[in-house]
Amino acid sequence: MSEIDLISSLLDKVAKKQRVDTVPQRLDEMLQILDSWEDSGADDDSRAAALASLGSKLEAVGVAQGESSTARELESSVRKLGKAVCKAMPQPTLPDVPLDDGALVQVLYVHMLCAGRFDVALALEREAADAIAAPTLQLRAPLEALHAALSALRARDLSPALAWAADHRERLEALGSRLPFLLARLAFVSHLEKGETLAALALARERLLPLALGEGCRSPRGKIELSATVLRGAAAGECAHGIAAVRSLMGSLAFAPALRGSRYEWLLEPSLAEEACEALTCEALAALGLPRGSALSSCVAAGEAVLPRLVKLSSLLGPKFVDVWRSGGELPVELELPPTHRMHHSIFACPVSKEPTTPGNPPMLLPCGHVLALGSLTKLARGSRTVRFKCPYCPAEATTAMAKVLHL
Ligand SMILES: [Zn+2]
Repeated sequence: MSEIDLISSLLDKVAKKQRVDTVPQRLDEMLQILDSWEDSGADDDSRAAALASLGSKLEAVGVAQGESSTARELESSVRKLGKAVCKAMPQPTLPDVPLDDGALVQVLYVHMLCAGRFDVALALEREAADAIAAPTLQLRAPLEALHAALSALRARDLSPALAWAADHRERLEALGSRLPFLLARLAFVSHLEKGETLAALALARERLLPLALGEGCRSPRGKIELSATVLRGAAAGECAHGIAAVRSLMGSLAFAPALRGSRYEWLLEPSLAEEACEALTCEALAALGLPRGSALSSCVAAGEAVLPRLVKLSSLLGPKFVDVWRSGGELPVELELPPTHRMHHSIFACPVSKEPTTPGNPPMLLPCGHVLALGSLTKLARGSRTVRFKCPYCPAEATTAMAKVLHL
């Protein structure tokens, strides 16, 4: 029998032993006995006899005895399962790393908010309010609004998402976000489904086309001008993709409201709303200064990616592995994370001094493209802003004045 088969059969045994449901049944039986039992109260002898008979009846049902033996059997089968799992899985000698409980609660809290589990977040607020910083607590209201907007969007109600986009219009425009276009496209499809072709056409002219063209055709007065020249220029230039997208939508006007079965059936696919939901989530989290994936999910994903290599290393180094880890105060080897998990890596260590940069000693970009900490740069230039020095990593020369501060 393979290890997995053994674990599977032991799991089945544990499931069978979990007969906790028989306890309420036996309690019900005891309640029935108690209900039907009547204390005659005639004299002490008959009362004693009645009590004795009641005692023996209750014992026959045997909750206490049955329960303790069930618990013992369950405990033994759980123990066997645990042993089998430990035997089947490699046992890395990883050191116990003390965790900051407060930080852990905060990370859990933010994760639950981002995942839309407000019931759990509220329970954390009740039970560990002291561990959650006030700015973190303030994230709940906007994230509740985000999840309400996402639910509405999936139910084809665009108004909360449109209201959010209107409130953050300047930011979205500055970032060149696709969200306004995706929402306008959903509103266009909504008009088509209702057969409101004129409203759809007006929306395409007033919202979709300007959004597809981007900022390139704004007049000095800030008004979008859709002259023939602008459109011709846009179709040939950078906005060609946006123009093509709007053109393909225009064809669907001829089929409204019977889009299903037509070549424009794709406009009814739920993926369109999902695309808008994804964009809204990204923009709303970014506006709150939060990454797309919560710190907790990134930790779990990073752990999943590096743990097999750490386990292998621990089996190679044995007990020395823990000493190496403890002495350095960090992982004993550099482990590369997949690019999708590198979103939290905002630490830059100077390649000359090997120290992480700080706001007082920021990373500086040299004209050759190499980056050093300001402290290392100052030493190379002997404190002068105009003295030329050679980059430690290439033959190019530079001065401190030529270097630019990098903001992480
Ligand atoms: Zn260089």
